[in-house]
Amino acid sequence: MRVRHKPWAKDKLLAHPEYVVQNPEHYASRWKQLFQMEAPIHLEIGVGKGKFIAESAQNNPDICFIGIEQSASIIVDALEKCLELELPNLKLLNVDAKLLSDYFGENELSRLYLNFSDPWPKKRHEKRRLTYKDFLAQYKKVLEPHGEIHLKTDNQGLFEYSLESFSSFGLTLQNISLDLHKSTLTSNVMTEYEEKFSSKGHRIYRCEAQF
Ligand code: SAH
Repeated sequence: MRVRHKPWAKDKLLAHPEYVVQNPEHYASRWKQLFQMEAPIHLEIGVGKGKFIAESAQNNPDICFIGIEQSASIIVDALEKCLELELPNLKLLNVDAKLLSDYFGENELSRLYLNFSDPWPKKRHEKRRLTYKDFLAQYKKVLEPHGEIHLKTDNQGLFEYSLESFSSFGLTLQNISLDLHKSTLTSNVMTEYEEKFSSKGHRIYRCEAQF
């Protein structure tokens, strides 16, 4: 994503602790207490401008949502959506997913969303792909025993890689779609990238993987 650098973004994030949690390690194993809700927690990694997570939180008030995004200049747009929609069941973290298992306790999450993750097509960058085995090992720790990963992308290479990576890690695959917008899925919440790429005629791939 080409990002316009916003030097004021970090201050804006700091000014809204009700949505942007600054010291997530502090809440490991205690997120439900922070939300003050006994509800399943769904996490999205790489929320971008936050359309998907904000709409999902709005549509599902009985689920807690946490969104991770490494870029302050981008996640600040997700914060704007929270402020506009007033979403008590959504928190944002401006952190890198590499340290995920510092932020969450074992079995704390029910579902993980990966939407249009960076494909890192070069083999030497494989370890950066969010479906690389080291990431899957972290997801396994923080997700509940039969926790799910829901993935969407327009990138065929990343999709094929991810299916293989899930499968060799022992996850079961279900609801695989090779052209999501031509299938009969009723409740699809579109992301910013999904809107952009599908309007250009790109196919959208989707799958669910379960531990
Ligand atoms: N999900 C959004 C944005 C996709 S672009 C959409 O579908 O529209 C991928 C996003 O993931 C970028 O904003 C990038 O900054 C973020 N990202 C990539 N690797 C990350 C990591 N390791 N930790 C946190 N965010 C990451």
